[in-house]
Order: sequence, then structure tokens, then C-alpha cells
Amino acid sequence: MDCIFCKIINGDIPSNKVYEDEFCLAFYDIAPQAPVHVIVVPKIHIPSANDITAENSKYISHIFECIPSIAEELGMAQAGYRLINNCGRDGGQTVEHLHFHILGGRTLGEGLI
Ligand code: 5GP
Ligand code: ZN
Repeated sequence: MDCIFCKIINGDIPSNKVYEDEFCLAFYDIAPQAPVHVIVVPKIHIPSANDITAENSKYISHIFECIPSIAEELGMAQAGYRLINNCGRDGGQTVEHLHFHILGGRTLGEGLI
């Protein structure tokens, strides 16, 4: 499958990993938009938030269970951070493998866009 994030998961494309287990992988974004910018992906190809189902949602809940320890590892748990999912064209999604951005390392604006 021609999916950048599946290739990162498979090791075909190198990445700077932050956390990995059986169900998810977290790695630094190649074009960071904040001092700390990490992407978390499920280890199955789910194209977008529109494709979350009762069958695959355990991968998503697992990611959210991992986020506190990833944020702690990144040194952002106490100061805080922003979680973002871009969905589809209007949402600004450029990689069609569901992923969550963890952004922090400085005080971010209060707005969302
Ligand atoms: P989206 O715009 O789909 O929400 O986010 C895709 C993100 O993937 C972007 O922030 C982009 O910089 C990142 N990205 C795209 N290709 C690669 C890659 O090959 N390696 C890494 N580490 N990040 C990538
Ligand atoms: Zn994929």
C-alpha cells in the first residue's frame, strides 16, 4: 500500500521514534510546527477519523491511553500540549492514515485555527 505512515510503521521509511508498542507508534514530525511536534499513528491503516468503527476503535482508545506517558516522556505533561487530528480536505489532512499531532514545548495560542 502506498501509505507513508504504513511504510514508517513497517520500517521502510526511517523515523525518529518516541514510543512504540503492538498497537501504535509515535514519532517526530518531519516538519515540526512547534518546538515539540510528535505524530501518533495506529498500527493498522485507518484512512481518517471518518473511518473509525466499533471494530477498530480499540486502536484509537489505546492511543489515548498512551498519550499521558508520551507527553510525560516529552516533558510536556505538566505544562500542557495540544492534540490535533486533521480529517479530510477541509480539515487539512495531507497523509491519509489516521494520526494525532501532539504539539507543545511553548505556550500555544488559545485559538484553534
Ligand atoms: P496532516 O497534515 O495529514 O494532519 O499531517 C501529516 C503530517 O505528517 C505533517 O505534519 C507532515 O510534516 C508529516 N509527515 C509527512 N511525511 C512525513 C515523513 O515521511 N516522516 C515524518 N516523520 N513526518 C511526515
Ligand atoms: Zn497507512
